[in-house]
Amino acid sequence: MDLQAILDDICAEMRKAEDRGVVARYIPQLAQVSPDHFGVSVALPSGQVFSAGDAQVPFSIQSVSKVFTLAMALGRMGDQLWTRVGREPSGEAFNAILQLEREKGRPRNPFINAGAIVTTDAVLAGHAPREFLGELLRFIRTAAQDDDIHINDAVAASEQATGDLNRSLAYFMLSHGNLLNAPDLTLGAYFHQCAVEMTCEQLARAGLFLTGAAGAPRMVSPARQHRINAMMMLCGHYDASGDFAYRVGLPGKSGVGGGIMVIVPGRAAISVWSPGLNAQGNSKLGTEAIEMLAQRTGWSVFR
Ligand code: GLU
Repeated sequence: MDLQAILDDICAEMRKAEDRGVVARYIPQLAQVSPDHFGVSVALPSGQVFSAGDAQVPFSIQSVSKVFTLAMALGRMGDQLWTRVGREPSGEAFNAILQLEREKGRPRNPFINAGAIVTTDAVLAGHAPREFLGELLRFIRTAAQDDDIHINDAVAASEQATGDLNRSLAYFMLSHGNLLNAPDLTLGAYFHQCAVEMTCEQLARAGLFLTGAAGAPRMVSPARQHRINAMMMLCGHYDASGDFAYRVGLPGKSGVGGGIMVIVPGRAAISVWSPGLNAQGNSKLGTEAIEMLAQRTGWSVFR
């Protein structure tokens, strides 16, 4: 299989696309990113990385960060985490609040905003946000085997300035006893976590620990790796998670910066970036590109 040729074809196809989706506007710094970018990388456990397009341009990983925080939270407190957050698909938008009211402040899963805020709160556990962020960066850098991964403070400040909906979710959970730190601390940690910047190459490499393949970094136990993949498959694309599973058949996590990290268990980790989003807040061309890649490679967990 000529992976490079496949990626080049996909990139050429995506460059031609006229409808590129809409760049997230509710975080002003993200609204400034050109929708013309497209990059894709595939990292193999051997250390080889194949890329096409803007695979070296850093972008805001946003909600893809929730996968790393989940791995840290499970490492820290194991199954205790599930007393505070569920593991069911929400069938709702990433920032929905109604369901949280019906379910008394216990978010459906760690990948919607409310669930991620609780997960961050759990890892924070009385520490200063700076310590949490240091630990998160260490985790991501170790996974990616690259120290040149940083937080974009302007993006974090931009979200901090406009993050009233996330603040509402946090205070709502606080009123239900499901937030243990001061909301400002948890939210500060959460906004900065979302503002981590990575290139497609770095993000693809950072996903390798979830492939469980020989040669990939071992950062979680095999049982946990299977479970994080299960969560990504069921909840990784908000209310389009079923559609992504149907079209792609691989666990993935998207972010409103237009990035998607996808795991091919036992084989490879993929990252794609195209900033324009579809109606569900997932990268429009990114989703299409991963669908093409899965078709061309035959990669699927259902084969
Ligand atoms: N930082 C974003 C927010 O909290 C993350 C959402 C996403 O990437 O889907 O609104």
